[in-house]
Amino acid sequence: MGLARSALLWISENRTLREKLPRYRFIRRAVNRFMPGEELDDALAAASALKQDRINTIFTRLGENVLDEHTAREVADHYVDASRKISNLGVDAYLSVKLTQLGLDLGEDLCVGNLERIIQAAEEAKTWVWIDMEQSPYVDRTLRIYRRMRERHKKVGVCLQSYLRRTERDLAELLPLSPGIRLVKGAYKEPPDVAFTRKAEVDANYLTLSKTMLDAAANGVFFGVATHDQSLIDRINEESRRRGLDKSRYELQLLYGIRTDVQRRLAAEGYSVRCLISYGSYWFPWYVRRLAERPANVWFVLKNLFA
Ligand SMILES: Cc1cc2nc3c(=O)[nH]c(=O)nc-3n(C[C@H](O)[C@H](O)[C@H](O)COP(=O)(O)OP(=O)(O)OC[C@H]3O[C@@H](n4cnc5c(N)ncnc54)[C@H](O)[C@@H]3O)c2cc1C
Repeated sequence: MGLARSALLWISENRTLREKLPRYRFIRRAVNRFMPGEELDDALAAASALKQDRINTIFTRLGENVLDEHTAREVADHYVDASRKISNLGVDAYLSVKLTQLGLDLGEDLCVGNLERIIQAAEEAKTWVWIDMEQSPYVDRTLRIYRRMRERHKKVGVCLQSYLRRTERDLAELLPLSPGIRLVKGAYKEPPDVAFTRKAEVDANYLTLSKTMLDAAANGVFFGVATHDQSLIDRINEESRRRGLDKSRYELQLLYGIRTDVQRRLAAEGYSVRCLISYGSYWFPWYVRRLAERPANVWFVLKNLFA
C-alpha cells in the first residue's frame, strides 16, 4: 500500500482529526466535488439532472459506527422517508446503507430491526436496498444479516470487496441464494493476511470474480460492477458480449463526481449506469477515503485553501 494512501486511511480513522478537520472552510469547499449537498433534497435534485443523461442513482446518507440506539433508529426513519420521496418523485434510485450506521456495534437485533424497516419501505417504493461492506471484522456479521434478509426479500443486495482474500469463497457460498452483488475493490485499511496488498492482485481478483458474476447474471443474479477502473469496465463489457449477455443484465455503478465523462459515455452507449450520490453532514471519513483512492486529489483540497 502506498505511503500516501496509508496516511490518508489513518487520518480517516483518527477520532481527533475527524472532529477538527471538517471545521476548516477550504476542506468543506473541496468536498463539494464529491457530493451535491448535505440534504436528501440536494441528492434528489442531482438525481433528476443525471436522469437527463440516462443515468440512474443510488442514495446513501453518510454515517458509520453509530453508538446510540436513538440515532440508529433515526437513520432508519430517514431512509423510510427517503423511500417515500423516491416513489413520489418517480426517480429510479436505490438506497445503500451501512450496517454500523443502523446500530450493528450495539447489537445484531437492533440493526436487523432497523434494516427490515428500510427494506419494507423500499419494497413499497419498488426499489432495492444495498448493504455496504465495511472493515473486515464486520464481514461475517454483514453476510449473516444479508442471508437473513435475502430469505425474506427479493430486492436486497450486498457489497463484496475484491481486495479480501476470502471473497472468492464468500461469493461461491452466496450464489445459491440468487443474490444481488455489488463488486468493489475495497476502501479500507486492511492487514496483509486479510487483503491483497498489490493493486495488480486486487484488480486480477476483481476480474476473476466478475467472470463468475457474469456467468451467474445469465441466470438472474444481479451484478453491480462498482468501479471507475476504465480498463476493468472495458474487459467486463467485452466478457459479457462474449457470453451474449444483454446489457440490461448487469449495471455499471460509479460514484458522484468521479469519472463523470465515463459515466455519460457508457450511458450513451446503452449500458445501464447508476451513480451513487452521498449526502449528509457526517462526510469526513468517507471523503478522506475518496482522497486515499487517488492521493492526487489532495492537491485539489489544497487549491481550495488558496481559492
Ligand atoms: C457504487 C460504489 C459503491 C461502493 N461501495 C463500497 C462499499 O460498500 N465498501 C467498500 O469498501 N468500498 C465501496 N466502494 C469504494 C471502492 O471500494 C473503491 O474504493 C473505489 O471505487 C475506488 O476504486 P476503483 O474501483 O474505482 O479503482 P481504482 O483503481 O482505485 O481507480 C481507477 C481509476 O478511477 C479513478 N478514480 C478512482 N477513485 C477516484 C477518486 N476518489 N477520485 C478521482 N478519481 C478516482 C481514477 O482515474 C483511477 O485511476 C464503492 C464504490 C462504488 C463506485
